[in-house]
Amino acid sequence: MSANGNTITVNGRDYRAPQRPTVVICLDGSEPGYIEQAIEAGVAPTFARFMRDGAHVHANSVIPSFTNPNNLSIITGRPPSVHGIAGNYFFDTANGVEVMMNDPKFLRAPTILAGVHDAGFKVAAVTAKDKLRGLLSYGLDYSTGRAIAFSSEKANQANRAENGIDNLLDFVGLPLPEVYSADLSEFVFAAGVKLVQHHRPDLMYLSTTDYIQHKVGLGTRIANDFYAMIDRYLAELDALGCTIVATADHGMNDKHLPDGRPDVVYLQDVLDAWTGKGKTRVILPITDPYVAHHGSLGSFATIYTPDGGAVAPLIAKLRGITGIDVALTQDEACHRFELPADRIGDIVVISSKHKVLGTSADRHDLSGLTEPLRSHGGLTEERVPMIANRRIALPSGHSLRNFDVFDVALNRIQ
Ligand code: ZN
Ligand code: ZN
Repeated sequence: MSANGNTITVNGRDYRAPQRPTVVICLDGSEPGYIEQAIEAGVAPTFARFMRDGAHVHANSVIPSFTNPNNLSIITGRPPSVHGIAGNYFFDTANGVEVMMNDPKFLRAPTILAGVHDAGFKVAAVTAKDKLRGLLSYGLDYSTGRAIAFSSEKANQANRAENGIDNLLDFVGLPLPEVYSADLSEFVFAAGVKLVQHHRPDLMYLSTTDYIQHKVGLGTRIANDFYAMIDRYLAELDALGCTIVATADHGMNDKHLPDGRPDVVYLQDVLDAWTGKGKTRVILPITDPYVAHHGSLGSFATIYTPDGGAVAPLIAKLRGITGIDVALTQDEACHRFELPADRIGDIVVISSKHKVLGTSADRHDLSGLTEPLRSHGGLTEERVPMIANRRIALPSGHSLRNFDVFDVALNRIQ
């Protein structure tokens, strides 16, 4: 990364230095329609004003349409082929172990936030879950006094050496939220408003959790209440003079049968029946330590075939399964979705709008699913909103990605 006069270059993209406090927001799992329905219900007047007087467009997310690949694309401005985070897990074929990619050592590109910080500006990042904080805050130096980064989940543990701030619960004025709650996201916004009031970061990234969107669909009372809460904080950030651009990491769809049970293709069971046990390994990159709201069931899976050679016939058979929309070789998937080949299996499988992919039926703990499953990961959760409180000028013919959001916030505001 480099800074030259008023331009900061990160991962080959140029960003104008922030002109006023600039807030980029990732509304986790914000399927198009949630905001519109909340507006319709009369509880989101600020969103309505932004969409009328500012900007409202749609963008495409990264595939897999999961949280970490998209948050890392947003914060680096580049696809996973550049930053290396293709999901929560990959299979280390050399050592035969499944590896979790929460650690910043797996990140292969600097962040825009660190670039802006290194150019002498004040930056802040607030995430709901702590799993993202380490990755999103990578490269920030808290000793400068110009960087703050923490999660709602571990707000009580924040300290100056590791987060650039302490006494957070007092500062924000809210109790430590439960990890599975709407409060976890509310804390992100409440903290964001306080940070602008008291620290005035030049550039701030806020990233929420999709707990509510996994639970309930568009226009429900619970969803509308959630967006009404966000709306109130947006009004405060707007009144403080911030430029605000919000997008989402991915959408969300119902993934269940009419009787409410999840509609699953258990891929490992299918493959074991075809090839015998131990010949293939299905990795679900949605799997993480927080499984209660999705049971590790999403619409994207990758398959490793350690003994090689069997890929083409397997793909042909996979394509014949009802509910599997896409089955690609590693090469095809990496080319089409800009993924890092060393962190993707030999086959990539994507399920249809209302189906999810599992490993083996006996490996999924679905006891935490208190509502019919809603999830994401596939092409049907690719389209997301992008909303700004000011007008934006997009270059014509450019197909917008959610990871253009910092470019929009810093370069395209009119
Ligand atoms: Zn997400
Ligand atoms: Zn999710």
